[in-house]
Amino acid sequence: MSEEKKEEKKEKKKAPAARLSKVYEIDSAKWTLKFRNRKCPRCGNIMAYHKNPVKRYTCGSCSYTDFVKE
Ligand SMILES: [Zn+2]
Repeated sequence: MSEEKKEEKKEKKKAPAARLSKVYEIDSAKWTLKFRNRKCPRCGNIMAYHKNPVKRYTCGSCSYTDFVKE
């Protein structure tokens, strides 16, 4: 009984850390590839880059969108 509880606790603790590192890896790869780390001028959060249908940066927090001029 006690062993089962221990295992559950361990798994719970492990999950968020793995998830966080996964997200961080994707982000850092994205930024270093060719995009600059852009911050939302409205709320200061990191903006997501989208290629389609047009190149733009979009803030996930306040939905602010900055279109990329070529
Ligand atoms: Zn924002």
